[in-house]
Amino acid sequence: MSGALQSRPVRKLSDRVRLQGRILFLAEDAALVRQQLAGRDLEWPPGGGAGVKLRDDISTDEITPAYICYYYDDTLGDFPYLGLKCGSEFPISRGAVRGGGFVASVSGKRRGKGSSREQSPYAEMCAGIKLVIAENIERIYRENCQNLGILTTTDFSIIDRVRRGEEIPLSTFTAGEGDITRGIIEYGGLFNYNLARLQGKVAPPLPAASPRPMTLGEKILARHWVVDPATGQVGVPAVRPGDEGFVVTDIRFSHEYVTPMAAIFFEQLVGPEEKVNDPGSVLLFRDHLTFLAEAMTPERVKEGLLDVANQLEQKQREFAAKQGIKLYGELRLGHHGSEAICHSKILEAHALPGQVIIGSDSHTPHAGAVGCVAFGVGTTAIFNSWITKDVRLTVPETVKVVVRGRKPESVTAKDFMLEILRHPYIKSGRAIGKLVEYCGEAVAALSVDERATMTNMTAEVGGFTGYVAPDEKTVAYLMAYRKLSRAEATRLCAGLASDPDAEYCEVIEIDAAQLKPMIALPGDPGNGLHIGELTDRVKVEIAYAGSCTAGKKEDMDMYARVLKEAVERGERVAPWVRFYIQCGSQEVKRYCEEMGYLDVFRQVGATFLEPSCGACINAGPGVSRTKEEVTISAINRNFPGRSGPGQLYLANPYTVAASAISGYITEWQPGMALATASP
Ligand code: SF4
Repeated sequence: MSGALQSRPVRKLSDRVRLQGRILFLAEDAALVRQQLAGRDLEWPPGGGAGVKLRDDISTDEITPAYICYYYDDTLGDFPYLGLKCGSEFPISRGAVRGGGFVASVSGKRRGKGSSREQSPYAEMCAGIKLVIAENIERIYRENCQNLGILTTTDFSIIDRVRRGEEIPLSTFTAGEGDITRGIIEYGGLFNYNLARLQGKVAPPLPAASPRPMTLGEKILARHWVVDPATGQVGVPAVRPGDEGFVVTDIRFSHEYVTPMAAIFFEQLVGPEEKVNDPGSVLLFRDHLTFLAEAMTPERVKEGLLDVANQLEQKQREFAAKQGIKLYGELRLGHHGSEAICHSKILEAHALPGQVIIGSDSHTPHAGAVGCVAFGVGTTAIFNSWITKDVRLTVPETVKVVVRGRKPESVTAKDFMLEILRHPYIKSGRAIGKLVEYCGEAVAALSVDERATMTNMTAEVGGFTGYVAPDEKTVAYLMAYRKLSRAEATRLCAGLASDPDAEYCEVIEIDAAQLKPMIALPGDPGNGLHIGELTDRVKVEIAYAGSCTAGKKEDMDMYARVLKEAVERGERVAPWVRFYIQCGSQEVKRYCEEMGYLDVFRQVGATFLEPSCGACINAGPGVSRTKEEVTISAINRNFPGRSGPGQLYLANPYTVAASAISGYITEWQPGMALATASP
């Protein structure tokens, strides 16, 4: 830590807070919301006749719709609740909340559900909101509020106290919290808490656990546990679920959606000329929006949003140059594309067994395919890790997923995951926030690329992270991708296994031999069915083969296998289908060139695209344009609107390629004819 931070004064907030300003009730009735914006204060409780029914389920998408997240500084304060839907109306317009003098915002159940985007509470904070009151508040949104210094409560009696101008004890907002969370609230946010921690003013208690059998995930966390940030002492004998603390990271990465906001925080709070701690272990990526110009509607372009989005790239590039951080950037070849999607490159070139990796993205567990603990975090956590190199967490319980037996040839890791996602334990959300350990003969038989499809989709499971214990396949992967000697690779993997008597909160068993190629119906990756269970023949207009999950070398092998057979039979992509194949990195593209796949793709009439998230994030070729359009895709999630307004089915890479040729969702079997049926 720099000397300036070491000596910077930092103190707790006062024991009592006074919140001065108006209270905004996010009501179901659009007229009531408009009246408040025009200056009327609503009566509360509403028994006196106001009849206020609060909105439930306000998602972060409603607080800051995705296109608003192209802004990354305090301009966001113009936009909170722009997507708030009251009946069929959107009563909040740009600048209305900021101009209304509000200090608190009140809503009903499940405030802040959905995406983990920190732009939402930051937009509220920049508009003047210092207190969020709701019947209950989603975990990540609440943590993001705490990290930023926004108070939260489910106690509605606070409303009167704010209105009376009372001083409220800070303990009202910390009751029931663990040591670290309480400290973060008392210091007014994660940054100040970390300053106090690094200056030795606070010391989170160490895990009390004496040596115990542990899962691999627990072992990795114990090895990385921060004991003394001042001396850099790391590692405790054991941790157990529920332990709260900080772990040191080996790699920290972020992409252009998050880096600019984190950079603003860093420059404002740490200092414009200060340096990131150990920039060699920080990586930045320009991957999400490199094809945005080809997907944004003319209306949004006219509103200037493309220019705003392009500033994300510029800000990230400038920050990387100034800090000496490696940036996997945008191609400068006169056409769109990236050097790599973040998860693809982290696995191909950086992750090592036993590491702790954090990334600004929910699919960060991708790297768990080589046996590390990799998980997604918010903007404030990334920015703080640039100072401290560590990250706060609570040790999760571990779920063991055993895929035993031998899978049929046409079944892939994607089918394993679609099967796991429809399991009642997963579907009911009980794996949320857990470590997920994938094992069993069928997992052992998978390549590292295929294992990454499983760990990547731990995000859809809702898990904290997913991993596969390293083995001989991992050793071979490290030798091939990192040019390590066998001895070095073996040494890195040594000892990285769960203890035989480790504790699991749940064990899920799947028999791979019983699996068939799956499809997830539009709306949710948990909507899995065997393709044969589809009652109607489903005609497809778009086939999209790409993304971090499905743009690896082995995915390309699968697309090419189906398409080579099609070429040999003289078959081509069905005339009504647009088929896009997008690789995850330049390394995968080179592999496709060497293997002759690009010729095969051309011969069948598929369009090959440079790496980028593209259609996976509704920002590139392959997005749907109407509600009726049907897409078959090997990406990881098919939530409504994910890749345009159409109907998005998920399937394995064989199915995607076969369906592109036949024009209908088609379960592929080796050697089968895919003769195009008449529309
Ligand atoms: S390809 Fe899709 S899932 Fe992967 S990082 Fe990009 S947007 Fe996320």
